[in-house]
Amino acid sequence: DSKEILLKVSGLKVAYGGIQAVKGVDFEVRRGELVSLIGANGAGKTTTLKAVTGLQPVAAGEIEFMGKTLKGQGAWDLVKQGLVMVPEGRGTFTRMTITENLLMGAYIRDDKAQIEADIERIFGIFPRLKERRNQLAGTMSGGEQQMLAMGRALMTRPKVLLLDEPSMGLSPIMVDKIFEVVNDIHSQGVTVLLVEQNASRALQLASRGYVMESGLITMTGEGKTLLNDPKVRAAYLGE
Ligand code: ATP
Repeated sequence: DSKEILLKVSGLKVAYGGIQAVKGVDFEVRRGELVSLIGANGAGKTTTLKAVTGLQPVAAGEIEFMGKTLKGQGAWDLVKQGLVMVPEGRGTFTRMTITENLLMGAYIRDDKAQIEADIERIFGIFPRLKERRNQLAGTMSGGEQQMLAMGRALMTRPKVLLLDEPSMGLSPIMVDKIFEVVNDIHSQGVTVLLVEQNASRALQLASRGYVMESGLITMTGEGKTLLNDPKVRAAYLGE
């Protein structure tokens, strides 16, 4: 069923000490969708992703993945189930080569022939990684490391891929490239939740979008509808 809800978040609240960063958030991601979560700096987007992936404790609310409640499971358990995040800042293994980094993404798998095939598929998506497959990750540019982090996440064969600000800090050309690749990955059938401050680019690609402000979801709709909404244009597209 292509409309199946893979990820469902209800009434999510997250606090840092006395500070409520996420104040009761509801959203869902259905199989095959690319859902964009946009909002200004500090709106609570990253905190939401961290709570979903078990990296930040949940104060209230419920997170369901493929119909089952996620409670007290660590990030590692979630990766095994197919809920995989590429964090802000990437976190590649800098002293390993590109190929070694990709193989780390397949650590939980033992299907050797399939792993080889997946590496080739990922090299198809990211020719730059193929050219540099024996280079140490730490010597690559920010954009290349972002590609590598995405490639490594794809090696786990995620059911839902969560991307936290993949375009952050990149040159305009690399930003174009990264959004192109996000679109390719989604076109190949991967379900994606994309967190971005670049509202324009994120909404152009999105099946649906959510706008987050001060810890709450304030608007939701189809990507194109939000992109043409005067309030969204005024607040996030500088018009
Ligand atoms: P950004 O685009 O800057 O990552 P964001 O929408 O992802 O913004 P969050 O990083 O989730 O926002 O931050 C939400 C709020 O929680 C902010 O007010 C932030 O200062 C606060 N916050 C985030 N991390 C921590 C932390 N570790 N300790 C205390 N407060 C935090």
